[in-house]
Amino acid sequence: MQPTTKADPTPGGLWTPDKPLIQLTDVHKSFGAFEVLRGISFDVMKGEVVCIIGPSGSGKSTLIRCINALVPIDAGSIQVEGQEVHDPKLDKLALRRKVGMVFQQYNLFPHRTALQNVMMAPVHVLRQDRDEVEQRAHALLKKVRLSGKENAYPGELSGGQQQRVAIARALAMRPDVMLFDEVTAALDPETVKEVLITIRELVEEGMTCMLVTHEMGFAREIADQVYFTDRGVIVEHGAPDEFFSAPKDERTQAFLSQIL
Ligand code: ADP
Ligand code: MG
Repeated sequence: MQPTTKADPTPGGLWTPDKPLIQLTDVHKSFGAFEVLRGISFDVMKGEVVCIIGPSGSGKSTLIRCINALVPIDAGSIQVEGQEVHDPKLDKLALRRKVGMVFQQYNLFPHRTALQNVMMAPVHVLRQDRDEVEQRAHALLKKVRLSGKENAYPGELSGGQQQRVAIARALAMRPDVMLFDEVTAALDPETVKEVLITIRELVEEGMTCMLVTHEMGFAREIADQVYFTDRGVIVEHGAPDEFFSAPKDERTQAFLSQIL
């Protein structure tokens, strides 16, 4: 007889990296009578970069928010590292440590410096050692190319700089995957590039990423898979070269011809 082992107390403790890091199966979500997600299924493996594109209102933000349980789903399943995200018993804090998220609106605390913004969650939520967190926050600001801006307040930074603080803030939780929801959409064109450089560096380091983006050139360059969503379904997906040069579905073709 095998000795009985206790259930692993760590969320996702049974997950191994050969299994999908994120797995969506037939996800449905309605707001009132309006079905925003109508059966979405896909997997993201560790180290993979997935770009989601699609018209405004097609459910991209809702999809991203469902993955870290900001929005509840009505049916289907979402697993992160083997853990059901919408299990009422799930430790949401543990989930959000694993799944970093950056939004179009960076939502930094305006009365805190860049450094304080990056330190806040590890110190106040995770109760980590302040000196260690501060050291790491300096390193993270350096990583997003903001050395020297530690003591600047958000209002003193450009949109692109603020967005990079928001990325550093998400990284401070040491996530296993980063979700980016149109993070450059609100930026001046000249600061878009610096944010994309930061994301590209994360990708090069092997970070698993899901990005909703309208930067098609960037998606083509960094994505392993591109998904096109329309009205709550995935219309088609593929490796970027094939996807962009020979889209199969009429809706994808129409969308790409408008945007490219
Ligand atoms: P996208 O990011 O692709 O533009 P969203 O996921 O933001 O699309 O929105 C999809 C649809 O769901 C839109 O019609 C939007 O108005 C609606 N929607 C999103 N969030 C809510 C909400 N909290 N309550 C009601 N309707 C919502
Ligand atoms: Mg959106």
